[in-house]
Amino acid sequence: MPRAVRYSGWLLLFGAGVFLCGTGMSVDVLSGLPFGLFLLIVLFAAAAISHLVVFTLPRWLRERRKDGSRCPHCGYTVPATGTQLCPECGATTTERERRPTTAASDEFKLWLTKAAFVCFCALPVAGVLTGAEFLTTWYFGRRAFRNYEAVTFSAVPSSHLNDGWVIPAYTGARVPGGWLYEDSEVLGIRPAIFRPTRWTPWPNAADLFYHEDERGRGRVFYYLD
Ligand SMILES: [Zn+2]
Repeated sequence: MPRAVRYSGWLLLFGAGVFLCGTGMSVDVLSGLPFGLFLLIVLFAAAAISHLVVFTLPRWLRERRKDGSRCPHCGYTVPATGTQLCPECGATTTERERRPTTAASDEFKLWLTKAAFVCFCALPVAGVLTGAEFLTTWYFGRRAFRNYEAVTFSAVPSSHLNDGWVIPAYTGARVPGGWLYEDSEVLGIRPAIFRPTRWTPWPNAADLFYHEDERGRGRVFYYLD
């Protein structure tokens, strides 16, 4: 297996793990289900089975066919002991090279350990990113609500109306860190909601908003489609 293939597999597994964790954490906020963890386990099992079928099993079968008295390259019969030159393909092999080894299962065990480690790391990485985005949303949302009187609201682009918070009567304004929306039917009272510019790898897992109630108490929340 070429190294590039091996490492791209790792990256894919890691990225998917991070993404699924993010999805799960968003779901967790509302439903309490360990959804991301469940998906990560499913992904890990799928990756392990794929690795077993594609790489480990063929190698293990090759090893099993070895019996010491055959050339491992072409299968031609050679004397079982000592270093031998194969009369068929010309390969020189030692007695040890012609004997079956546990290399295939050893490699699989090592791969499993590495994969489990990557999955394990994906959880805190996703957690830190989710927490950091929560804080930036809080910071920019609070700031936007404080400075909203200096903002000019206008009709928002139609691309804003395709997701969770679909309220066509809202008008919006670009502010630092995202967009601030105002209910255009009740003008001039308070901004309604702040939607941050997303920077984590899972913007589509759940919409993220900042909101303040009548008493000015802020809260960041996820909105699932
Ligand atoms: Zn041979």
